[in-house]
Parts: sequence; structure tokens; C-alpha cells
Amino acid sequence: MDLSRTELEEAGAVLAAESGRFASFGWMRGTSGNLSTVVSRDPLRLVVTASGHDKGELGPSDVVLVDGAGAALDGGTPSAEAALHARVAALTGAGAVVHVHTVASVAMGRRKPGGIVFRDLEMLKGVGQPAHDTEVTLPVIANSQDMEELGDRLAQARDPRMPAVVVAGHGLYVWGATPRQARHHTEVVEWLLEFALTQG
Ligand SMILES: [Zn+2]
Repeated sequence: MDLSRTELEEAGAVLAAESGRFASFGWMRGTSGNLSTVVSRDPLRLVVTASGHDKGELGPSDVVLVDGAGAALDGGTPSAEAALHARVAALTGAGAVVHVHTVASVAMGRRKPGGIVFRDLEMLKGVGQPAHDTEVTLPVIANSQDMEELGDRLAQARDPRMPAVVVAGHGLYVWGATPRQARHHTEVVEWLLEFALTQG
């Protein structure tokens, strides 16, 4: 696929801005986490934040174009986790994926390895669910350094009503139609996790 330098940098500027915001929340410490946005659906192509950079200091060119397997197409080093971003985009139809290492996701993943259940919370509306009379489970999957294995676990565990999965001992994957919606979903899911953490 031909993605011009300008198009790549436009996507990069969006991801850099999103990344700066997540970093300011303390959710991307020490270069952890990564963001992606889908730039082509068929064939699947994503722009992903480059590996190893401080996520509070990304510029528009600190991104890599990857294919549906998370492999770099134009040089650069994507995060190893780019493969999982691509898998999530293929699986869910999402246009953007957020991966952050938050304390609440790791703490709750440890407390509830079988999944974290939410009910009767107004904030559930933020992920498109009714606030009452419904129970929504945020799945928790075991961590792996093998992105294919992790992708299989995510595919099996995900609940279409919840645009997120916790990876135990690791962090959170969240997705949405656009980078903005993915960010809103991340903020809501993180709120739910932080609330759950206060519940003993
Ligand atoms: Zn990670």
C-alpha cells in the first residue's frame, strides 16, 4: 500500500497527541504502552507508535506503518505488540487500539483472574452499555510474550459488549472506532478498574 509521508505523519501527529495525553495520566510510564490507528482495512494496515520512545515526547514521525501481522512495511521498529494491535483491529473492526500499563488493570487482573464484573454503574454508558440491570465482564487473559498466543487468548475471551481486555500482570488493551473513541473507552474502562479497586 502506498501511504505518503504526509499521510503517515498525519496519523503520527494524532497518535503523538493521544500518547502525550495518556503519558500525562501516568499510564505510559518508562516508554511502556503503544497506540495504533488503522489506515487501510483491505489490506489491513496500521500506523503504530515506534518502540522505545518516551510516550510523552512523541513527534509525528515516531510511528511505523505495519501490515496485518504487525510487521514493519517502511522500515522502523514497531513495538513487538504491534502484532496484537493488528489482531484486535482485524477481530473487532476497530479503527484504533490503545495499550497501556496501568496499575489498576494489573491489580484487578490479579484480584479477579476469571474476569472483572461491573454492574449498576453510570460509567458503563461510556462503553455503550445500560447503567442498570445489566452485568458486563471485562475479560482477563494470561500474559504471553508470544503475540499469536496472546491474540488467540484475546479472541477467545473477548466480550463484544466490552471493548477491552486485561492482560494479567501486564496491562490493558482497549479499542474504538477512532483514536478519540478508543481514548474515551480507555478512560472509562480505567475508571471502572480504579473504582473496582476501591471495593475490596
Ligand atoms: Zn505492554
